[in-house]
Amino acid sequence: MRRDGTDNALAVETVLDSMPYGMCLWGKDHTILLFNHAYAAAFGLEEGAFRAGMHLREAIKLVLDAGNYFGYSVDDLYENMLERFDRQVEGALPREYQQVLRDRNIRTTYSARAGLGWLVTHEDITDANDHITALSRREAELAKQAMRFETAVDNMAHGLCMIDPDHRLVICNSNYASLYELPEDLQCPGTLLTDIMDYRFDNGMRPKDGPIAFLQRRVQTITEGKRAIDICEFENGQIISVVHQPMADGGWVETHQDITEQRRSEARIHHLARHDALTDLPNRTLFAEEMVMAESRVRRGEMMAVLCFDLDHFKIINDTLGHAIGDAVLKEVAARINHTKREHETAARLGGDEFALLAGPLKGPKDVAALSERLIAAISEPMDIEGHRVMVGTSIGIAIAPTDGEIGETLMKNADLALYRAKGDGRGNYRFFEKGMDATMQHRRLLESGLKLGIIRDEFSLVFQPLMELESNRVSCFEALLRWDNAELGVVSPVEFIPVAEEIGFIVPLGEWVLREACRVAATWPGETRIAINLSPIQFKSRRLLDVVRDALDEAGLSPNRLELEITESVMLADSEQTLETLHDLRAMGVRISMDDFGTGYSSLSYLRAFPFDKIKIDRSFIEDVGSTDANFEIIKAVIALGRSLGMSTTAEGVETEAQLDAVRAHGCDEIQGFLFSRPLSERDAAELIHRLSPGAAVTGEKREAG
Ligand code: C2E
Ligand code: MG
Ligand code: MG
Repeated sequence: MRRDGTDNALAVETVLDSMPYGMCLWGKDHTILLFNHAYAAAFGLEEGAFRAGMHLREAIKLVLDAGNYFGYSVDDLYENMLERFDRQVEGALPREYQQVLRDRNIRTTYSARAGLGWLVTHEDITDANDHITALSRREAELAKQAMRFETAVDNMAHGLCMIDPDHRLVICNSNYASLYELPEDLQCPGTLLTDIMDYRFDNGMRPKDGPIAFLQRRVQTITEGKRAIDICEFENGQIISVVHQPMADGGWVETHQDITEQRRSEARIHHLARHDALTDLPNRTLFAEEMVMAESRVRRGEMMAVLCFDLDHFKIINDTLGHAIGDAVLKEVAARINHTKREHETAARLGGDEFALLAGPLKGPKDVAALSERLIAAISEPMDIEGHRVMVGTSIGIAIAPTDGEIGETLMKNADLALYRAKGDGRGNYRFFEKGMDATMQHRRLLESGLKLGIIRDEFSLVFQPLMELESNRVSCFEALLRWDNAELGVVSPVEFIPVAEEIGFIVPLGEWVLREACRVAATWPGETRIAINLSPIQFKSRRLLDVVRDALDEAGLSPNRLELEITESVMLADSEQTLETLHDLRAMGVRISMDDFGTGYSSLSYLRAFPFDKIKIDRSFIEDVGSTDANFEIIKAVIALGRSLGMSTTAEGVETEAQLDAVRAHGCDEIQGFLFSRPLSERDAAELIHRLSPGAAVTGEKREAG
């Protein structure tokens, strides 16, 4: 739909042309005001033969030339018509008569508009069954026809009024009247336009640009006598588009349309196109526009900075607590950024959990460092969302203009590179862009693309690290540990690629592969030897996990009680019903659940209360300095005692020395895992170890890690 209001004029035409009659409205000076196609067609004339402003004489000539009214001259017909019209007004002649035009029976009516001209209609009644219809029926028809015209005009979506050269109302429709709340007497033909205006002002009309300017504009439009569109804005917020269409006699037609809603929704659309729907922060488009505007400031010598944010572990929150909470977190983060930045600075949400800030002018990099620290602190404050206490950190990458590039794309790219570094450096950090960061980025890209191809290319393998039961000195379990040997990158540590796989969602298929492969291998082992498998929180979020575990066990023919699933505290972070339900369901299947890396999170103890784990694996950072710090040793002692009272067994991870072994054994730890006993082994070496340690054999020695 065109927005300029030309659709108003179009609407008038459409209404007229859809009428089943020929119709022409004549002015008091005997010129055409309005007519439709069917009117010309009745005389066998082309669509464009008549035009507004054409005089009756000229029209008669055209009609005669087309072969109508044979034997008449222009003058004859002109006199005849006017006489007939006058007599009809006096009531001496009926308003309607029949004539033959081009072999068609035409019923013609005149409808007088006293002192103003007349309306003539032509109805083709050739095909009517009954030519001699009762007078009453004709009258009813006529009334119906007049009503049709008025209804058609009244049903126009817009307000319409026709004004004569003396600035008096010829006709207006009900939309016009109701738009300006005109009383009946001001809707009558002959009403002065100034009276209507006066009434509107009295009735509270307050043009935005003041009454004088408003009237001046109207007068100018009228005197110019050209088609014009006037957008009138009023203090109450109303916006009306007026299309002014002059007529040949000096009068004009106006259509009035209330476009307040239309304008409002246009403004809304404009806003939506440039803002993020969730947080209402500017989006990437508006941010890019703001950067372009900032360019001139940088050229004038101002220092500016682009800060790119990424929420740390947002995906886990989203996946474990659900999208509604994820959205609430994003909104809260947006509010905190807005609150921390200076008012004139632009904060934007670029998508997902990415935000950006255009800061400046700055005195120096120290300003940005301070700002970044404030932002990190603000965002890291715990949030209380729908009964959940959520903690989310952020990493920030910073690029400064003009040092790190003109404002714009380069700066944005460099801030992004700095962000990758910040995340790589342990998150919750900010980093300035430095030359050479591109290489890091390149590496990250290789990781992402390489991972996805890894399964197809058969680049993944598992190694198995034995866990030794201290009481019996026997291998009770092997932990399956993932290895990736990539053609371009070489051997990549899981510490490096697992977080990347988690971020790009690849951990789900990869984790399934690990489950299947590990169960397959374990099924080849004899007796009670168990297999421990690490689960990422991302895998944990879906109920599908249950099916995946069940299928892996079935496929391998492995008894569920030989499978241990290791989860970390981040799984428990989502203390949701669903997490616990999945854990209980797994347990109900007979699978054992271990809490891995115990002690590295901040609320490990509370998780022990939430779920009855089978095993606690004490993180190797506690074992590492056994002997050197008493504090850690006290913790180990406490955890072992706690595990015992809760009926959970304890495993010491990362046992590397005899001293460490002695210490954990002395305090009743059930199991150890570590290089002292064995490094992770290949499938073959693991099988050999089991064989060698079959009942009776002593446990000693160390094996090199496979690969
Ligand atoms: P984790 O589950 O705590 O696994 C134990 C890690 O400690 C392994 O590192 C293992 O090689 C190492 N380790 C064992 N004994 C010693 C020791 O005496 N000294 C030292 N310094 N280290 C020891 P790895 O294989 O590099 O795995 C690192 C982490 O990667 C794992 O920690 C686990 O969180 C993750 N990971 C490994 N495989 C998988 C997997 O299949 N799925 C998932 N989701 N995560 C995995
Ligand atoms: Mg583990
Ligand atoms: Mg561990």
